[in-house]
Amino acid sequence: MRLLISHMKYWTAFPEDEGLEQTAMQLCGYLPEGESALKFGESPSGIVQVYDTEINDWSPVRRAKVQVIHFGRLLTAETNDLGKFSISRRFYAGTQVNVLFCNSKSCIRAMNTTDFGGIITLPTVLAIPATHFDGWRSASNLDNMIIRFGSDNQVRLWAHIQNAVQDFYDFANQTGISTPPAGFNIYAHWNNNRRDGATLMFGHFNDPFSIRHQTLAWLSEINKVINVDILTAIGLRMPDVIIEYDAGDTIRSEELNHMVYHELGHTSHYNRVGVGFWATLVSAEAGNILTGNNPPYGTRGDATAPLIGMCEAWAETIADEFLLRRYNTGTEQERESPWLDEPVADRWIPYGIFYDMTDGIGADERGDQNTINRNRGLNFNDNVTGFSLRQINTILNMTVTTPQVFISQFQILYSSNNANLNALLNSYGQ
Ligand SMILES: [Zn+2]
Repeated sequence: MRLLISHMKYWTAFPEDEGLEQTAMQLCGYLPEGESALKFGESPSGIVQVYDTEINDWSPVRRAKVQVIHFGRLLTAETNDLGKFSISRRFYAGTQVNVLFCNSKSCIRAMNTTDFGGIITLPTVLAIPATHFDGWRSASNLDNMIIRFGSDNQVRLWAHIQNAVQDFYDFANQTGISTPPAGFNIYAHWNNNRRDGATLMFGHFNDPFSIRHQTLAWLSEINKVINVDILTAIGLRMPDVIIEYDAGDTIRSEELNHMVYHELGHTSHYNRVGVGFWATLVSAEAGNILTGNNPPYGTRGDATAPLIGMCEAWAETIADEFLLRRYNTGTEQERESPWLDEPVADRWIPYGIFYDMTDGIGADERGDQNTINRNRGLNFNDNVTGFSLRQINTILNMTVTTPQVFISQFQILYSSNNANLNALLNSYGQ
């Protein structure tokens, strides 16, 4: 009797099957009677890597799935944190080898509008994880496979996003901030002119139609590939995160990682605040796109500006911090201005507020270069240090919808008498 274990949608055989297969090979004439196939067979194993332009070297592709076909059955193994994988089955025939960018944390889905004039990505493509078809390998070439993604193509985009998700979980645990919701969907849009990200969380909304009309302008850009009606009709999970990358650009690992960390920072925040809060945020930013109001963030005087400012500042703080942890160098995190927008009259997204609460006091920091900022007309007083991202994460629940509410909640819980903190927060509250 043949015993099978169901693992996700794939089938994995018990080791006892090996004897059956050898018998089958002999019965079918593929192996001489009495000769052991074991000395011919190889077990698929190897390493999956992606080229990283920041370190100028190969990096492991972490926690991706390697898929092979064994007697008509799909077998999968997950790469470990070193990119290595191993399938403990002996193969007597060759097999197609695939790499899937999906695990229990997230699933990447592929959109490509470079090949078809921006017309369509078939829903059937979105129904499966982003898959690299590595090709056919003979039975004698299955061990010690080296699968590398070095070309500027969408497979390398997927591999980078895949790694960024694994990084994010590591760094979230290290810093004590919330992780993203399990099993979220990332649509990786390989396209001709856009390089951008969005955290819609549509896969988690009970009724995406409720905000669909407000996001119509935005979706119209990508509606060619994400047709909301079709996806819903066939029961596909809609995108929680969209990462768009311009196929005409060189993939720069540091910049791409920063973008993905920023969007995953939003998913972490989402996990603290829930659907209602997030629908308000998405509607606000989509509304700015719809009306052409300095899309997507809007302008300083908008009713939604405080909410957008706080959420964007938090995601950007996470992105900067995690990029620093990933590379311990780089340029993105060396931002000098405490505000996203300059000139001074337009400033309102407090990019530096969370950073300034958690960094040290020094002369070459981003938001709190007191002298430099004063010379630029920014009256900052950052003599604050010692607070943590964990503390900030704790404060950011669904009731905290503006920087002002955040500031008052933080002062109540952690530091009602800290004059330096009050002075700093007042700098951002002006
Ligand atoms: Zn953002």
